[in-house]
Amino acid sequence: MNIHEYQAKAVLKSFGAPVATGAPVLTEDDIEAAIDSLPGPLWVVKSQIHAGGRGKGRFIESEAGEKGGVRLAFSKEEARQHAEAMLGHHLVTAQTSAEGKQVNRLYIEDGADIDRELYLSILVDRGTGQVAFVASTEGGMDIEQVAHETPEKILTLPVGASVSEEDAAALCDALRLEGTARQDGMSLFPNLYRAFTEKDMSMLEINPLIVMTDNHLRVLDAKVSFDGNALFRHPDILELRDTTEEDEKEIEASEWDLAYIALDGTIGCMVNGAGLAMATMDIIKLYGEEPANFCDVGGGADAAKVAAAFKIIMKDPNVKGILVNIFGGIMKCDVIAEGVIQAVKETNLSVPLVVRLEGTNVDQGKAILAGSDLNIIPADDLDDAAQKIVAAVKGA
Ligand code: GDP
Ligand code: MG
Repeated sequence: MNIHEYQAKAVLKSFGAPVATGAPVLTEDDIEAAIDSLPGPLWVVKSQIHAGGRGKGRFIESEAGEKGGVRLAFSKEEARQHAEAMLGHHLVTAQTSAEGKQVNRLYIEDGADIDRELYLSILVDRGTGQVAFVASTEGGMDIEQVAHETPEKILTLPVGASVSEEDAAALCDALRLEGTARQDGMSLFPNLYRAFTEKDMSMLEINPLIVMTDNHLRVLDAKVSFDGNALFRHPDILELRDTTEEDEKEIEASEWDLAYIALDGTIGCMVNGAGLAMATMDIIKLYGEEPANFCDVGGGADAAKVAAAFKIIMKDPNVKGILVNIFGGIMKCDVIAEGVIQAVKETNLSVPLVVRLEGTNVDQGKAILAGSDLNIIPADDLDDAAQKIVAAVKGA
């Protein structure tokens, strides 16, 4: 689950991280008070959307179409103009679709005098199986380019169960922090690590972390994702969820307790279990196509849940065919077959569908599908299923 920048900053502040004073704006009526609550002389008006690259983003409806999603203002009047120009409009960034995202919230912040913009993130490094810090002196809006062109300017530092003095010092060295900025860093890095682990974050990115002209550090931008499987133990974090920012299909999937993952290809995959999902996607690729998504219905689905999964998969306009690959263990193949038939009828399915079932009550399941007079292509094994769906999609 992702949260907005202003929410992330509040969480980090509660762990002692230095952030600016700021005020969120949820409706136009909040703008005036938010601006008045800050001292000036510099106000920063920031679009709050769950996508990065806002500074370099563009609003589509604005006539000039030029100004970004993060703007500096040198008077209250200018801040108000920026706020009104952003709220309710669609911001397009490198991380949104071409339609952009509607800006429904703003954050207005007390502006900082920046000396240097640094990059700092914490993530789970699957290579080492450890939490790692990623740090670079080349922070700001072009970090992707830095990673691509000059990767030697980026330090990856795996850490153990806590951030030792040596770890913090290594990060200070990498970021070339001296004096007061170094003191700030020595306490900030362990605090960020605590926030990351105690709140079960999966990613924490501060870009930029700034050194101000007074040689103190400040978290200027913050992007945080939480491990969805640990949210049950963080009701405070769950409250920060903004479903207007999420993919409609993923929200619906979470309501049905389905794991839905959107991908870029053309074949929708309905599976049960992560291992089977991986195998199904691999074999689709082996036969020359790409998965459009996968929806994992889990171990104990009933016909209604299978039907819901089907409808979610069908909402993706890139889906040119569907492969159902399910092993009936706890969930029986005849139940799956009933769900598939129900869903095909309800969605007026117009793309080829290949179904491969195996496991408990498989013969009953196959008989139900065969007797349905619907256009369902049966498959005997995974290899057969993948070849059939790929052939059907290519023929279409
Ligand atoms: P992003 O483009 O979505 O990553 O948004 P950021 O919050 O990172 O802001 C983009 C850029 O705006 C930063 O890299 C800074 O250069 C600039 N910026 C943001 N806040 C301030 C501020 O308080 N003072 C100044 N001078 N620049 C700021
Ligand atoms: Mg940023």
